[in-house]
Amino acid sequence: MTTTEAEKTGTPAQPQNAAKPVVWRDPAAKPFVKIEGVTKVFDDFTAVDNVSLEIYKTELFCLLGGSGSGKSTLLRMLAGFEEPTSGRIIIDGVDMAGIPPWERPVNMMFQSYALFPHLTVEKNVGFGLRREGMADSEVKKRVKEILEMVQMGHLAKRKPHQLSGGQRQRVALARSLVKRPKLLLLDEPLGALDKKLREETQFELINIQEELGVTFVVVTHDQEEAMTLSTRIGVMNQGEIVQVGEPHEIYEYPNSRFVAQFIGSVNMLEGTVVVDETDHVIIDSPEAGCMIHLDHGISCAPNQEVHVALRPEKIIISKEHPGTQDNCMQGTIEDIAYMGNMSVYRVRLNTGKEIRVTQPNFVRDMGSRLTWNDNVYLHWQIDSSVVLTV
Ligand code: ADP
Ligand code: MG
Repeated sequence: MTTTEAEKTGTPAQPQNAAKPVVWRDPAAKPFVKIEGVTKVFDDFTAVDNVSLEIYKTELFCLLGGSGSGKSTLLRMLAGFEEPTSGRIIIDGVDMAGIPPWERPVNMMFQSYALFPHLTVEKNVGFGLRREGMADSEVKKRVKEILEMVQMGHLAKRKPHQLSGGQRQRVALARSLVKRPKLLLLDEPLGALDKKLREETQFELINIQEELGVTFVVVTHDQEEAMTLSTRIGVMNQGEIVQVGEPHEIYEYPNSRFVAQFIGSVNMLEGTVVVDETDHVIIDSPEAGCMIHLDHGISCAPNQEVHVALRPEKIIISKEHPGTQDNCMQGTIEDIAYMGNMSVYRVRLNTGKEIRVTQPNFVRDMGSRLTWNDNVYLHWQIDSSVVLTV
């Protein structure tokens, strides 16, 4: 069976920037970038649909969405390569309408950034500054500084063809940072790198961003990358921002089935709301074969059909009955993937529904206790699931 990355590593990626002061939670804070009802229509196709977003200084904000969801178009409007069909973009208090890319406090690093092949790394990085007429000694100082930061100082004399893909990517990053833009836009910056290099570079990107205090807006289609990098994530679908939040909020409290399924692995259980009080909800789910209890109300219509999202790692699997009928499903283990630190179980419920469960392997013989064809109970806590009405 296939296994997602979140399952392999045991837990979903945690926000690396969690220790930062969280300006976006401060109602008095002024956003650095303000996107107000921005729409972009190409011919008769709406690529970006009425997007409003506020991004704060020193954030590393990720626009996350599938291919064609409008991420690059939104980024290009921030950079000034496209004009919104309607709506406003305000950067650092200035309305960007009619302001060309080179007059914006913004720099963009492209996915396939073309370095000059005949110039050395340091000449490539210093090119823009020299062209602006900066004194040679100052250019040298700035270039040296930024190359040290991206760990390319020792390769300053090389030409692009003498570098690996990851090294070229760092040169491109240095080149986009050397002018000290207030806002750096990165479109799939790590897309060309292999997995291991991408992970290393993610951490470096965070360090550089913290050191320079530049605001980053990063476009990615890779949910794990977004989880690792971001202070906050804006999830895009069909041109719209469907949810904005810190990585753990998006993971723990998705606001729709789309977001729940896009971020990480999730079990979806259909059901009907039978009790909806302020402090609890009961959902009858024939698919789960049990009543589902939650510890809060959802204020929905009577008998509303809902989906309950239940992450695989929130489920406790055991051969012993947990002692309650509620939040307890019964089934048979069909498949087990042993991942070392954890195991992934595929369980066929007696109702026919397939459920995925992940469990950490606390003790060495954990795996041997549960095996194929075992009848098991799947139980979860009252605060472990999320009800989704859309
Ligand atoms: P993403 O970066 O999320 O993959 P894009 O922003 O590049 O998506 O594109 C969103 C949609 O807009 C796609 O369907 C794409 O084909 C369309 N699109 C992008 N640029 C243009 C353009 N210049 N003319 C027409 N359609 C475009
Ligand atoms: Mg794109």
